[in-house]
Amino acid sequence: MDEIKRIHELRALIEKYNYEYYALDNPSVSDAYYDELMKELIALENKHPEIDKSTSPTQRVGGVVLPYFNKIVHKRPMLSLGNVFSIDEIRAFDKRVRQEVGYEPEYVCELKIDGLSISIEYVDGKINYGATRGDGISGEDVTNNVKTIATLPLKVDEKNTFEVRGEVFMSKKTFAKINLQKEKEGEEGFANARNAAAGSLRQLDSSIAAKRNLEVFIYYLVNAKDFNINSQYDSLKWLEKMGFRVNPNYRLCKNIDEVIEYVEEFSKVRDDLPYDIDGLVIKVNDFAMQEELGFTSKSPKWAVAFKFPAVEVTTKLKDIIFTVGRTGKITPNAVLEPVFIAGSTVQRATLHNEDYVLDKDIRIGDYVVIRKAGDIIPEVVRSLPEKRRGNETKFEMIENCPACNEPISRKDSQAAHFCVNKYCPAKKMEGIIHFASRNAMNIEGLGEKIVEQFYDLGILKSIDDIYLLETKKDEIINLEGFGEKSYQNIIDSVNKSKSNSLERLLFGLGISGVGEKMAKVLAKTFKNIDALKEATYEDLIDIPDVGDITASEIVTFFEDVVNLELIIRLKELGVNMTYLSSEEEFKETIFNNKKVVVTGTLTKFSRNEIKSLLEGLNATVSGSVSKNTDYVIVGESPGSKYDKALKLGIKIINEDELTRLLEGEESEN
Ligand code: NAD
Repeated sequence: MDEIKRIHELRALIEKYNYEYYALDNPSVSDAYYDELMKELIALENKHPEIDKSTSPTQRVGGVVLPYFNKIVHKRPMLSLGNVFSIDEIRAFDKRVRQEVGYEPEYVCELKIDGLSISIEYVDGKINYGATRGDGISGEDVTNNVKTIATLPLKVDEKNTFEVRGEVFMSKKTFAKINLQKEKEGEEGFANARNAAAGSLRQLDSSIAAKRNLEVFIYYLVNAKDFNINSQYDSLKWLEKMGFRVNPNYRLCKNIDEVIEYVEEFSKVRDDLPYDIDGLVIKVNDFAMQEELGFTSKSPKWAVAFKFPAVEVTTKLKDIIFTVGRTGKITPNAVLEPVFIAGSTVQRATLHNEDYVLDKDIRIGDYVVIRKAGDIIPEVVRSLPEKRRGNETKFEMIENCPACNEPISRKDSQAAHFCVNKYCPAKKMEGIIHFASRNAMNIEGLGEKIVEQFYDLGILKSIDDIYLLETKKDEIINLEGFGEKSYQNIIDSVNKSKSNSLERLLFGLGISGVGEKMAKVLAKTFKNIDALKEATYEDLIDIPDVGDITASEIVTFFEDVVNLELIIRLKELGVNMTYLSSEEEFKETIFNNKKVVVTGTLTKFSRNEIKSLLEGLNATVSGSVSKNTDYVIVGESPGSKYDKALKLGIKIINEDELTRLLEGEESEN
């Protein structure tokens, strides 16, 4: 292919994948494949210096700042890291460094935690702000969410202003738990722990972030010089001393041979760690040397990331089939001759999307290379055209949905095709699962498997059929595994759901862009569904939490007769359509189900007042601090409980913060 054409093609593809990864927190391809495309683009751009690359993704940090967050301009840009993929490339990096600075440097090696970077400024010993990397120049203000991270000190013994940077991540255990929960509730899980962490930190509602058990490792003190610290190693020691959680697996290496020893050693421990890492980071230790080496527009020249290679095997591609997700996303999947890879037998692998298959010219009947990288489901990496016999079939993207046969379409900004048919059975069934799920109408007994079974049997054909289940009693109790009792439990739960407050219904209806938080904002603002139905785009955009796209999606939803008819039917069947402020609201504060200890004198609350307030928010107030304590509320002259909390790394909340949290919740009511 024409190399210039390929440069433009690669740039467009990478921009698309950047958008999915950084803005949507929902990548459609693996990191390994993304890195491959980036490598190819860098090589081609180097070969063709005549092509302007100032706007190329190779020159910019890939992230975005989402419009509904306040922006924070970074005092110093937050950059990416250059990648190396082999020991030879590590040696080449060392050679470049030595040539530039004239002598052999020491390096600090660290684990490359697979999360998202965060910048946190402390002023007067307290967190002033927390910001995501965004586009590197400015990031999203996620201060309230950052404060919910239990392992981050809210207070430190240093009054001078300083900024730290680190990686927010989700442990493998928490990730598995959250995805299992999502699965149970009929929701699509996160692709991996990194996306789960990013999606959780970038929430407008900090009580959601608080529930996600996020963690952080700090690896950088930005203004170290202000504290007379002159090296990365000493910075890490200082950070540890201040009570920050620094990943303990860092090492000072005297030369590149020691770096390579570290790389070989830590490449083996990856799977044993309780969190994901996607590589190792090698940094020149001495700050004076770092300064001499400087930066490119995208990354420092004094550090590189060593990325782990993925495991690959070869097998035969027997067929390509298509699946439809809840949102209507169509994914091509490879049907493979079973092959054993990284601990399991693989028969299916994702082909991601049309661009991916065409770009790699993958054909049915080809021998293909399969890769398993990290926790991501296996993917087809490339075909082996040299093994072709001539009877392979070229890939053609389908034009119609495999479930409903209606035409499918593709939005400009996304790589995937979507089925937009509201009546699509695959989407419809997923819609019923979502409607009944715990965070929506919370209909116990109507989980994913039961809905699937009822759907296949024609007992449930659409959402409103849920409220007609009483007319299907005979059919249901005669099903295997069902009886009078399980039938009655479902009916009781269905009837109970009729009195849910409006926000549950709005979330359950699956309006694009209306998640739980947004549903609540809309319910509180409009009080009943008829008022919301009448709202114009301008009315909606005036609400602080509602963005441009969501406002349009809501208007479009209520213009659709199919949706309007569904609402009328649900109303006739007795489903409540008004907002009921209820105790449920309190359940969403960060104190829900938490163990809290209060120490010191509070100025605004007596001990009894704060105790009953917290208990009203479903917290357990206890008299002593242990490792099971979730929060310690600290007033003036706190006692030994405060010291113990600091020692155990328990999240500390001062009175200002407490008032803000309580007012924040109340002002929403
Ligand atoms: P990067 O993640 O490869 O490296 C830079 C980042 O590493 C830093 O911003 C920091 O957050 C993190 N990091 C973790 N531990 C660190 C430590 N100890 N010291 C310093 N930094 C540390 O680069 P990037 O620009 O953030 O992202 C690019 C990568 O993201 C790609 O290489 C790819 O793997 C992935 N990506 C994937 C897709 C996709 O569609 N799958 C799309 C875009 C990006």
